[in-house]
Amino acid sequence: MNPPLPPPSSSCNTCGAFMRGGTFLHSLSYQASSRRYCTDCLLKKNHGLFCPICFQVYDRTLSPHLRLLCLRCPAIAHRSCVTSDSGRPSASSFKCPACSDPNFSYFRPRREGEELDPKSAMVLVAAAQISAESLSKAAAASRLYAERRAMEAAAAKNKAREALESLESIVALENEEQKQQQQQQPKKKQKQKKKKKKKKKKKKKRNVA
Ligand SMILES: [Zn+2]
Ligand SMILES: [Zn+2]
Ligand SMILES: [Zn+2]
Repeated sequence: MNPPLPPPSSSCNTCGAFMRGGTFLHSLSYQASSRRYCTDCLLKKNHGLFCPICFQVYDRTLSPHLRLLCLRCPAIAHRSCVTSDSGRPSASSFKCPACSDPNFSYFRPRREGEELDPKSAMVLVAAAQISAESLSKAAAASRLYAERRAMEAAAAKNKAREALESLESIVALENEEQKQQQQQQPKKKQKQKKKKKKKKKKKKKRNVA
């Protein structure tokens, strides 16, 4: 009988590798949700954030004279880490390790009982660092979003209160006008009655004459 498969969240979003043995999975924030990637896929997805030769994760943009850009992908390497055959790195011909070899892999999962070599350890640290930065950026963004929503909610509440206040004053004004009209109506009726009486009197006088 086959062992039950691990749930989908414990497999790499790109290659489907499962978190087991020497395979590590890292979380990356993606459009307000979190996705899991194996070490190799995470680094291949994030070219440009680390040097593909010494695996240092960049905390700021390298100035042009310190970096070399890959001809084929967004990878950026330290100029000092790249040595061409002539000993001098050339900006016009640099291809990162992943673009130079289609079978290239940043991280090879360990076999049972195999120790982690220093290069794999550095690769693993770089992937963990990129993952941590992505998650903390997402946390900061969602905090900012929550604060903005709270401010919008407070502003909306204020507007609603103002609208209610102006509605109340309009209703009060209308009531006042209605009262005034009701008070004026009896006077008008009285005037109209007086006019009618005068007319009747005139008619009587004419009839008598
Ligand atoms: Zn993968
Ligand atoms: Zn480097
Ligand atoms: Zn490349």
